[in-house]
Amino acid sequence: MTSAEAANHYFKKAARIMDVGERIETLLATPLRELKVQVSIELDNGEIRTFSGYRIQHDNARGPMKGGLRFHPEVDGDETLGLASLMTWKTAVVNLPYGGAKGGIQVDPGKLSLKELERLTRKFVDQLHDVIGPTRDIPAPDMNTNPQVMAWIMDQYSKYHGHSPAVVTGKPLELYGSRGREAATGRGLLFVAREILRDVGMGVKGTRFAIQGFGNVGSHAARLLAEDGGVVVAVSDVHGGIQSARGLDVPALFEHVRRSGSVKGFPGGTPCRGEDVLVADCDVLVPAALGGVITRQVAADVRARIVLEGANAPCTPEADEVFEKKGVLVVPDILANAGGVTVSYFEWVQNLQHVTWEEERVNGELERVMKEAYEKVGQISRSRKLPLRTSAYVLAIGRVGKATVLRGI
Ligand code: NAD
Repeated sequence: MTSAEAANHYFKKAARIMDVGERIETLLATPLRELKVQVSIELDNGEIRTFSGYRIQHDNARGPMKGGLRFHPEVDGDETLGLASLMTWKTAVVNLPYGGAKGGIQVDPGKLSLKELERLTRKFVDQLHDVIGPTRDIPAPDMNTNPQVMAWIMDQYSKYHGHSPAVVTGKPLELYGSRGREAATGRGLLFVAREILRDVGMGVKGTRFAIQGFGNVGSHAARLLAEDGGVVVAVSDVHGGIQSARGLDVPALFEHVRRSGSVKGFPGGTPCRGEDVLVADCDVLVPAALGGVITRQVAADVRARIVLEGANAPCTPEADEVFEKKGVLVVPDILANAGGVTVSYFEWVQNLQHVTWEEERVNGELERVMKEAYEKVGQISRSRKLPLRTSAYVLAIGRVGKATVLRGI
């Protein structure tokens, strides 16, 4: 199943339960606009190179579209479409006044110099500037794009349309970024973890977590869960894994990663293979790296009681079925990792109002949004006896569907 097919699978499953009808189903599943552009730049050595750039705008019934930009060799139209639709449902689950979009450039940014990367980003904006904007489509960082890339986007877009900080989120703090944005996805995972653990009669304190990925999402989740009393028993990144049944010293692990660039070789635990972390003996598994890593086979071996999806689409639909049979609770990406887009929304609001919020306010508002979304999804799950993923889709499709009909087709 391709990424777009997997995203569509969940959408269709919920749409059928809701009986929205074939026409509305087709309307909601079809993207508004799919753009593929040629991005040609001159390399530092004078050579010309051409890359493919994508922006897929899935739905705007609830507001301007929102979604990240990836710079990765595997970016293609199919993956981008799947992720764009995920953004429509995610922004609806947390009730932000947004639709969904996603984009990227098929490139290995590690092979470009900083100047080449800047030229590539600016050229991409030249191709896109007519269809993005603070009231149309607001990009954000994703895999291999960062606050610096967002700053270039803001600058290039502003050359066409005048000073426009609200055209992108995830900007540097010195250039209209929001306090609390960097840790927002990890913090959102913490808030959701607190809620679901309370529902099953546990708490974060003393609960054992295994985390795949130690980048933006995984590292902040590990830090915040540990600060809340959670026991982080296994962690991995692209280079390998590390585990300790008694719990890893997370601040010491951060220091090790800062010095060496990886969790691998951390002296405070036993080395393991990255994939071992997915099947580690723990209570909660947090996949926070790649999509599609939890397949049917992996799911059969997962020992956790709860899976908290930090990454986008880490579980395949087949894995989801295995978890349902095993009674493993899966908190879906469109709820669990929505903290990032929520604080991106706060950044956009601050930019539009020319104000700056204190971090306390950002974190407090984030907690309110995540708790409310969890509560609404939980209510649907309990009343209709549905898994959390299907319930989240039911909530999202209901909201997007209503907005679509009210606006008129
Ligand atoms: P990142 O690039 O900061 O970190 C990715 C991490 O995954 C790195 O530690 C990397 O070493 C690790 N990794 C890569 N391949 C791996 C493998 N095979 N095994 C174990 N670890 C591996 O990315 P991120 O921003 O943390 O995003 C991670 C995921 O979360 C992505 O799916 C992304 O779309 C999703 N997400 C991110 C945000 C956000 O705000 N950053 C929000 C929502 C969802």
